[in-house]
Amino acid sequence: MSTVTAISTPNAVGGIAVIRISGEKSLEIAEKVFRPAGHKKVSEMSGYTCAYGIAYDGTERLDDCILTVFRSPHSYTGEDVVEISCHGGLYVTRRILRAVLKNGAENAEAGEFTKRAYLNGKLDLTQAESVMEIISARGERELKMAENLREGMTYRKVKKCSEKLMKMLGDLGAWADYPEEDIPEVSSENLCKELETVRKELSALIENYDSGRIIREGISSVIIGRPNVGKSTLFNCLSGCDRSIVTDIAGTTRDVVEESVRLGDITLRLADTAGIHETDDIIEGIGVNIAEKLIESSELVIAVFDGNCPLTEDDLKLIKRLDNKKCIAVINKSDLEICLDTTEIEENIQQIVYLSAKENDGIEKLKKAVEVVFEINENSFSSAVAVNERQKKCIDSALSCVETAVSALKNGEFLDVVNVIIDEAEQYLLSLTGEKVTDAVVDEVFSRFCVGK
Ligand code: GDP
Repeated sequence: MSTVTAISTPNAVGGIAVIRISGEKSLEIAEKVFRPAGHKKVSEMSGYTCAYGIAYDGTERLDDCILTVFRSPHSYTGEDVVEISCHGGLYVTRRILRAVLKNGAENAEAGEFTKRAYLNGKLDLTQAESVMEIISARGERELKMAENLREGMTYRKVKKCSEKLMKMLGDLGAWADYPEEDIPEVSSENLCKELETVRKELSALIENYDSGRIIREGISSVIIGRPNVGKSTLFNCLSGCDRSIVTDIAGTTRDVVEESVRLGDITLRLADTAGIHETDDIIEGIGVNIAEKLIESSELVIAVFDGNCPLTEDDLKLIKRLDNKKCIAVINKSDLEICLDTTEIEENIQQIVYLSAKENDGIEKLKKAVEVVFEINENSFSSAVAVNERQKKCIDSALSCVETAVSALKNGEFLDVVNVIIDEAEQYLLSLTGEKVTDAVVDEVFSRFCVGK
C-alpha cells in the first residue's frame, strides 16, 4: 500500500497542527523533511518516541517541529506512522505537507487513516464508525454511545449472534452432507429454540435505536401557537448562545430552514417559522397552510398558549389538530397570573409545562417533558447499540431472515430451505462487523470521514 499523508488537525489557525504520514515509507520520507536537533536519525527512532528538530523543504527551513514515531503494528493504522507537530499556521502547515508530498507520499483520502486501521485489522467496521461518532459528538450522551461502539460493544453482541447462526449452519451442513456418518439429526424444534434466542438478542440490539438516533440527530420540532403567545420569545430563550447551524432540509414540500437549539443533551431541530407567525391566519387557516405542513412533518410540536388569557377559538382549533401528535403544551407567561382553563389541553396533549419564556424560567421542565414524550432515559442511550442507519439496516435484515426461518420451520419447510435463510441472516451480520463486506460499503462508510482522520 502506498504511503499517505494529510493534515490531521482542523483547517484553521491554532496553537499547533499535526501532519500525519502512514505507510511503509513514512520514516524514510520524514527523514528527508525533518532534521532532528539530536544525533539520532528518524529511521533509527523507536516507536512511541519523539524528537525535536526542523522541517525543511529541500534547503529551505520551514518550522521548528516535534516528530513522533509509531512503529507498525503499534500505531493507529497498524502501519509505520510519523506525526509532525508544527506551529498551527495555515501556510506553514501546508508547506510542510507539500514537502512530505514532494518526497514521495500521496494525499490521503477522507478517512483513509481509519480505513487502513480497519483493513489492517486494528478496528472492526463498527469501531471505525465510532471514530466519526466520537468526533461529531456534541454532548455527554452522544459521546457515551460512541464510546460503547468504540469499545466493541456492538461488535461483541453481533458476533455472539453470528457465531450461533454459524453453529446452526455447521450442524445443518454436516447432517445434510454426511448422512452416513451417524451425525445427530438436527431437530426443527431445537433449531427453532436457538433461532428464537438469536431473534431476542437482535431485537434488543435495535430496541433503543430511536433514542440513540434522537440524541445524535436531534428531534425535528416546531413551535406553534396564535400570535402574541410568546413563540419568538421562547425560541430566543431556547436558542440563547447556542443558536447554531442552519440547515436546509430537502424533501419537504418546500425547503424549510431549520435552526438547531440545545435543550440539555437533546437537540431540537426547530423549523424556523420566523415570518410565518407574522401572518394572522396561522391557526385560522390550519388544514391547508404551512402550519399544517409543519405540524405534519415535525416529530415534536411545541404548542404555546398564553397563560395570562383564557383560551381563544384559535387556541381550541390548534388543540384539536394536535390529537395524534407527539406534543408538549407550553403555558407561557407563568410570571403573570394564570387565568387559563387547561381542561381542553389536558384532554388532548400528553405533557403540559408552565414556564416564562421572558424570564427564562422553567426551561428545565420543558427538557424533562421532551424526555418523557420520547421515552429517553439514562438506560436508553447507554444501551443503545446500533448507532447508525447502516448498522440498523443490517440488524433489521438479519432479524427478518431469522423470523422467516422460524416460520419456515413451523410450516414444515425442508431444512435446506431454512439453511439458505439462516445463511442470509449470517451474511448481514458479517457485513455489519465488516468481516464480509463489499468494497462499496467500505467506501461509503469512510467517505463520511474528514481528511486526516
Ligand atoms: P409571538 O407572536 O407568539 O412570537 O409572541 P412574542 O414572542 O412576540 O411575544 C408577544 C409578547 O408577549 C411580547 O410583548 C413578549 O414580551 C411577551 N411575552 C412573551 N413571553 C412572555 C412571558 O413569559 N411573560 C410575559 N410577561 N410576557 C411575555
